[in-house]
Amino acid sequence: MDGTMMDYPLTLPSILERAGKLFGKVEIVSRLPDKSLHRCTYADVHRRSRQLAAALQQAGLKRGERVATMMWNSYVHLEAYFGVPVSGGVLHTLNFRLHADDIAYIANHAEDRFIIVDDVLLPLFEQVRDRLEIERVFVAALSGKPVPEGYENYETFLEGAPDNFAYPDLDENEACGMCYTSGTTGRSKGVVYSHRAMVLHSLAECMTDCAALSQKDTVMPVVPMFHANAWGLPYATALVGAKTIMPGPHLDADSLLDLCEREQVTLAAGVPTIWFGILNALDENPGARKLHPKLRTLVGGSAAPEAMIRGFDKHGVHTIQAWGMTEMTPLGTVSTLKGYLEALPEDEQYALRAKQGLPVPFVEARVVDEKGEAPWDGETMGELQVRGPWVAASYHNAEAGAEDKWTDDGWFGTGDVVTIDAEGYVKITDRTKDLIKSGGEWISSVDLENALMGHPGVKEAAVIAVAHPKWQERPLAVVVAKEGAEVTPEALADHLAATFAKWWVPEAPAGYVFIEEIPRTSAGKFLKSALRERFSDFQWPE
Ligand code: AMP
Repeated sequence: MDGTMMDYPLTLPSILERAGKLFGKVEIVSRLPDKSLHRCTYADVHRRSRQLAAALQQAGLKRGERVATMMWNSYVHLEAYFGVPVSGGVLHTLNFRLHADDIAYIANHAEDRFIIVDDVLLPLFEQVRDRLEIERVFVAALSGKPVPEGYENYETFLEGAPDNFAYPDLDENEACGMCYTSGTTGRSKGVVYSHRAMVLHSLAECMTDCAALSQKDTVMPVVPMFHANAWGLPYATALVGAKTIMPGPHLDADSLLDLCEREQVTLAAGVPTIWFGILNALDENPGARKLHPKLRTLVGGSAAPEAMIRGFDKHGVHTIQAWGMTEMTPLGTVSTLKGYLEALPEDEQYALRAKQGLPVPFVEARVVDEKGEAPWDGETMGELQVRGPWVAASYHNAEAGAEDKWTDDGWFGTGDVVTIDAEGYVKITDRTKDLIKSGGEWISSVDLENALMGHPGVKEAAVIAVAHPKWQERPLAVVVAKEGAEVTPEALADHLAATFAKWWVPEAPAGYVFIEEIPRTSAGKFLKSALRERFSDFQWPE
């Protein structure tokens, strides 16, 4: 058939132009290293991003070449989010929390040509500088101190930009960004995002049953901009023209609550670790903070325990759980209730909200076990496989074997073990490697952890599989008690026995060990591989 619609590319310049033209007065507030607040607007972001793009082109950046960032969340990072891709380059957000060896490997593997670094992160950068094949280093002097010798000043680089910038003719399937997985095992792998994926992801994220982003929102991405595009929020927020709050390097509960109160944040997004801290602070001083009455939080990266969702409800803060992966730009599922499910008894509603949620539009999901595609009965566990327009089709220059993650019929294997219920709610029960197989039956470590963290004396808990002479594996609960709380293995076993089959519950006392702190990945997730190693010689009593 002839004559349908225009062939209009889905690219990031459209988002930047819209933000600049329609929402020029809306503010971007950044917390600087010295804790002062920097204020600018989308008009500034629009102007300065285009300046950055022009400067990069003048510096010889070619289409598809990588520009890395080593930065906290700030207005300068937002400029890079737009300036690099609209110049035709690819923004590679480096995770500076990784080990120096990994950072060097990743930056060289990605062939980063230029890098923009926060001056407060220069000590970290210097640990890897000699090992990098980077041509030019631009330093953003957000701390207010002079840029040290041997580095170029980011502001000077911008000022030198020609003022006749015109967007290149970008194809929507060209690369715009890049991020390496922060996997708990093996080498990080590079995921390359296209303009099209980013634009469609932004639209989906704004939908009411996802993050429900509106121009009227004030959005604070606490999730770092080097972790899975800060969940796509910088682009989604600019798309609707919402005010944005960038917390910079200050991620402690008090600093974040201070920003929430001062700027009347309506949506804040981050990993559960951040929210545990904030919930504790709220519990200690209920009502002390005058938060926006409609403050909601988007929580993901690891499971948001039901106890946390309930805890925040008591303070009038609504928790929305989302699940995603670096390979998925990252949004995959969001746990909002369907209207008719709000008629369920309260406990059932909480149980649903503690699931990872419904696949967002255009993300298709299926569960696959040894027998093939499993039914959506809420019980049959299998690997979650997905496909969709913002799911990676491969890794960047991957080592042999990485293609195993994709099935012959075109789905991506997430490595997450899930059930899907008849309503379509996905529930993560484990990572494939974290499942516990006891006497031939699977036990979900995540379920046990969430229940343990619902005990009033428990601050954090991780459950790992430990080899057992009779049962092959049994669960070992590694527990961090709350300060001053007296928790015994017997009390925890009783607490778990109220919810789980007897064979799921770690035996008291041997199945419980108390430690000071659970080791974490650079993204704040429990590093279970480290725990497994630590307890690899663990002996069950005869
Ligand atoms: P990353 O690519 O670093 O974002 O890690 C993705 C992985 O984090 C997923 O495969 C899950 O194992 C885990 N994850 C992300 N969001 C959640 C969530 N809401 N609940 C449980 N696990 C999650």
